[in-house]
Amino acid sequence: MQLERSEKAAIFLERLPQKVNRQIMLSLEACVHCGLCTDRCHYVLANPGDVTYAPAYKADRLRKLFKAHMDWTGRIAPWWVGARSVYTDAELEELKDTVFGKCTNCRRCSVNCPMGVDMATFNRMARGLLVHVGVMPEGVSHVAKDQWEIGNQMGVLNEEYLDTLTWMEEELQDEYGDPNIKIPVDKPDCDVMYTINPREVKYDPRTIAEAAAIFHFAGESWTMSSAGWDMTNFGLFNGDDELGAAVAGRVYDTLERLRAKKLVISECGHGFRSTRCEGPNWGKRQLGFPMESAIVTMTNYIQQGRIRVDKSKNTVPVTYHDSCNLARSCGIFEEPRALLKLIVSDFREMYPNRAENFCCTGGGGAMSMSEYTPRRLQSARIKAEQLKATGAKIVATSCHNCVDGLYDLIRHYKLDMEVKLLVNLVANALVPTEKIAGKAVPVPAAVEAARAPAKLLAGYKILVVDDEPDVRTYLRSIFQEQGAEVVEAPDARQAMRSLLSGKPHLMTLDLIMPHKTGDWLYWELRKDPNFADLPIVIITGYARMEAPGVDFHKFIAEKNLPPPEAFIEKPIQPEMVLDTVLKILGSRMSLQV
Ligand code: SF4
Ligand code: SF4
Repeated sequence: MQLERSEKAAIFLERLPQKVNRQIMLSLEACVHCGLCTDRCHYVLANPGDVTYAPAYKADRLRKLFKAHMDWTGRIAPWWVGARSVYTDAELEELKDTVFGKCTNCRRCSVNCPMGVDMATFNRMARGLLVHVGVMPEGVSHVAKDQWEIGNQMGVLNEEYLDTLTWMEEELQDEYGDPNIKIPVDKPDCDVMYTINPREVKYDPRTIAEAAAIFHFAGESWTMSSAGWDMTNFGLFNGDDELGAAVAGRVYDTLERLRAKKLVISECGHGFRSTRCEGPNWGKRQLGFPMESAIVTMTNYIQQGRIRVDKSKNTVPVTYHDSCNLARSCGIFEEPRALLKLIVSDFREMYPNRAENFCCTGGGGAMSMSEYTPRRLQSARIKAEQLKATGAKIVATSCHNCVDGLYDLIRHYKLDMEVKLLVNLVANALVPTEKIAGKAVPVPAAVEAARAPAKLLAGYKILVVDDEPDVRTYLRSIFQEQGAEVVEAPDARQAMRSLLSGKPHLMTLDLIMPHKTGDWLYWELRKDPNFADLPIVIITGYARMEAPGVDFHKFIAEKNLPPPEAFIEKPIQPEMVLDTVLKILGSRMSLQV
């Protein structure tokens, strides 16, 4: 009997094929249910025994829909592949509870999946489908509405925003006794346009003043803008690409109108990711200006001698929380640590960190979903334990959203700790000088030492197996730049000879090569006790759907082989390759601070 479908469920399903792109389809297909992602998720760790929090379980809710409507196996044998559609509004509400209430899109499971399944990406897709039919937490709906209609996600009126800038300018002039300190607005032809998070206007205006002081003493040619100043973007959280494109577009349009040369993005993980990385794609725009995190700007000012800092002004022990969006999704790991080394005297690393850090539990828009607050605070236990173990009294972060998430859990778990942004610590260490007006001054020796980039792969040997010389050269340069010894092999046989003459620490492997394929080499190595533990990163240009003859996922399932340590699809993104390799080797390397 054909079940009747609600109007919302029908619209939801109608839109499904438009949202499933190739990357999402690959993620939906590739899961081999190995379970490696399960204990990567803070919800799972804080709720042992409740399978509904497991990433693969959550992903299966979406996979069933995909099987039912977009996969031929689901049409022929739905019971066999677990295909299941949605019919009622209650089922949509249940899905809402999973995708909004049980996942912060932190991507910790995604970067730990050897098959490249990106749970967070299709979780966002599902959010977008639900938002399209009006099924979402009330807070998400309000914030998105404010961003559409008022132009910023906190509904700050323009008058309030401009008054705050004037107020902060007056405070700065009083503090430094200098009427020339300004917070310029809509000044054309500047080197820098600075964009902020509306939370700064509403709850933390001091951060605007601190950034202004830093720009002033650096002698920067800079401005803020009276429109398009909100770099946060709820489109990332609610899966609405149109909202994402519109919000990012306002910032880009403003910069172009003011003819600024560079966009500097204040401290906000999702704002940086949305504006710098996702916005041009959502809006299909080619941009002719660079964008930079304020972390990099502040570090450059110190390293170039444009501002002076005294780290003895920050003596309280400080640890650093990596924002998921800045670190895992944008690869900003070392920059905040380099800055902290220059401005605090007692830095203590938190473990795990960088790409392995746990979410503050306020990510993915969770702070706006009050109905899930008890669940969020329960899962925050993992982060609280991480913080407590550092012994630090300040947790620094570079994200206004993380500030709120961390503040909440510190209060809930009664930790003796406060939260600060990097700009707070830089401003506190600032030694006011005459404006240096862009001129370099002698750089202190400690700054020179901190400037020398760490060679993260020094002492490691990597075997690159690929029949394309260009790819081998490309990978070689990525690894050699980080100090690795790189050996190349153009096919599987030569790779085997190289392996027998000396085992590397890691191997990258192409699948389609002349003579013996990558599958063959993988099989030979995994069954050989001498090489079974060799980390292997598959780097291939052949996605499963395009090359049925080389279905690697099926191959390892049939042979009952363990999955590779990682699976990367060409074209190669250098940051992703490096990040993946560092993560795999991470447990054996001293990721020095
Ligand atoms: S780690 Fe990847 S392949 Fe394994 S269960 Fe999780 S999503 Fe599936
Ligand atoms: S993205 Fe983060 S919160 Fe969501 S399932 Fe994965 S680890 Fe859990």
